[in-house]
Amino acid sequence: MAIGVTKELSQFTGKVGRCEHDHVVEVLSSGFGFCAECANEIDGYHTLYVVPAGFQTPGSGDYEV
Ligand SMILES: [Zn+2]
Repeated sequence: MAIGVTKELSQFTGKVGRCEHDHVVEVLSSGFGFCAECANEIDGYHTLYVVPAGFQTPGSGDYEV
């Protein structure tokens, strides 16, 4: 499995979304979410989740006045 993969969250609500295995993933202020449940279950799991296109990333973008 490749390291550094990013995927878009599904069912994103503005704060949390779902990973590819339907776990709840919270997007951090860095703009990335990481699924700890998948990481526990899958060896070498490094997928990062990003906010889907069309959503504002929490904690970023506000300073670009
Ligand atoms: Zn997961």
